[in-house]
Amino acid sequence: MTRLNIFLKKIAALLMLIWLGSALLAHAQGPKVLVVTAHPDDETGFSVSLFKITHELKGIVDMAVMTDGGGGFADSQLGAMYYGLNLTDSLVARTHLPMIRKQEILDAAKIMGLRNIYFMEQPDDWYTLDPQPYISGKNWDIPFIEKRLDLILSERKYDFIITMLPHAGQHGHHKTAVLMALRAVQRFKGPNKPIIIAGSPMVANSKPVDFQMLEGFPETKIKPGSLSFFLNRAFRFKENDKVSYKIVADWVIAAYKSQGAIQENGIHKTDFELYRYFDINDDQGIARVKDLFDQLANSGFAAPK
Ligand SMILES: [Zn+2]
Repeated sequence: MTRLNIFLKKIAALLMLIWLGSALLAHAQGPKVLVVTAHPDDETGFSVSLFKITHELKGIVDMAVMTDGGGGFADSQLGAMYYGLNLTDSLVARTHLPMIRKQEILDAAKIMGLRNIYFMEQPDDWYTLDPQPYISGKNWDIPFIEKRLDLILSERKYDFIITMLPHAGQHGHHKTAVLMALRAVQRFKGPNKPIIIAGSPMVANSKPVDFQMLEGFPETKIKPGSLSFFLNRAFRFKENDKVSYKIVADWVIAAYKSQGAIQENGIHKTDFELYRYFDINDDQGIARVKDLFDQLANSGFAAPK
């Protein structure tokens, strides 16, 4: 063996060690997650999972938000006083709410420990259950969103993508945001395709929303017979039986002072976050989602035995 050969072997061994080290480090960093929603405040349904991922599992969470939130003024009476602007007037709201809601989502992001928020700046026009005006490209710039999501996914290399559950009763904006995320995963080329799951909030002693697929959009199908994954926010910590993770969710909701209805109806209400597995994922991903929720159940403060 020549000296050069020995030298090259040493270099190869060193590179192998560096690669192993970085692979281990990547694992040690915890999961990388992108949340795709329509409005600032949609992520409140996942807030405790996101908080636990960043604070307890040392993971990374980014968010992509489709609209500027300018249409959220129907219940802004108290927010109008707080901000000193006549926000219940639609013209005032559409002029000033986009900035206010960006500030609110940044405050919420700080609580949840998020890394970045990608604002897609699409119009938050009106309330409708119909996704067609958006997904067709009539009211939203779909090629723009697709291009940005493709770039974000290829650059940031997420393990998981979390969306809302696109059931029939959801806002058309919510349904379209889910479709944008699902289609971005479908377009994703290369190894390590992210796993996409749908989250929804649940109150104790209620039944999960029945959902298999949003009619007309087969990519929204949930894997038949697959497990659902729960995150329990509601148990009191065994340390003193006074505190639960619901408090973190309350902090996040409290950031959205322009959004009266979520304050009135959401504060301290949600007991569980329920996550479902989309059928477009490979079957092998189920074990990874189970592992994520096992880690979340066993990290931080434990439930009383
Ligand atoms: Zn929303």
